[in-house]
Order: sequence, then C-alpha cells, then structure tokens
Amino acid sequence: MHDRCPQCGLKYEREPGYFLGAMYFSYLLSIPPVLAIVLLIWRLTAWRFDLVILCGFVAYLPLVPAVTRWARVLWMYVDRHFDPD
Ligand SMILES: [Zn+2]
Repeated sequence: MHDRCPQCGLKYEREPGYFLGAMYFSYLLSIPPVLAIVLLIWRLTAWRFDLVILCGFVAYLPLVPAVTRWARVLWMYVDRHFDPD
C-alpha cells in the first residue's frame, strides 16, 4: 500500500494504528457473505454445523484481501468526514 495517494498526495495512514478502525467495517462487510456461504453449504450438504461454519470461513478466505481494502477505504471516508484536518 502506498503511503500517499499517487494522484493527489493524500496521506493514507494518518497516525500509527490508524487502520484499526477499518476492522469494524471489515467485520460488517464480512458478515453477509460468510452468512450466505454458510447457509448455502448448510442447504446443499448434510454436514455437521461446526464443519459447515469452518468450511464457510475457509471459502471466504479468498475475499479477505478485497474486503480489507474496501474496509480501509470506507474507514478513510468516515474518518475524514468527521475529522477532515
Ligand atoms: Zn487521491
């Protein structure tokens, strides 16, 4: 990840640990797809529920890098909305 935006020079990480707040967005963005995957596996198989949950999270892993980036972008939008300076 760049330190600054190559287009406008905006500094992404304003302070150490800045993207900790993005974890809330990451969590919110992750729940619906994980739930959908789990329900799909639950519906299509006769597996035990704990195995379904485990497989749902494993199936979700390829989406994690994209969701992390989207969560950071959302976090920066919200943070700069309330604290623009
Ligand atoms: Zn920019």
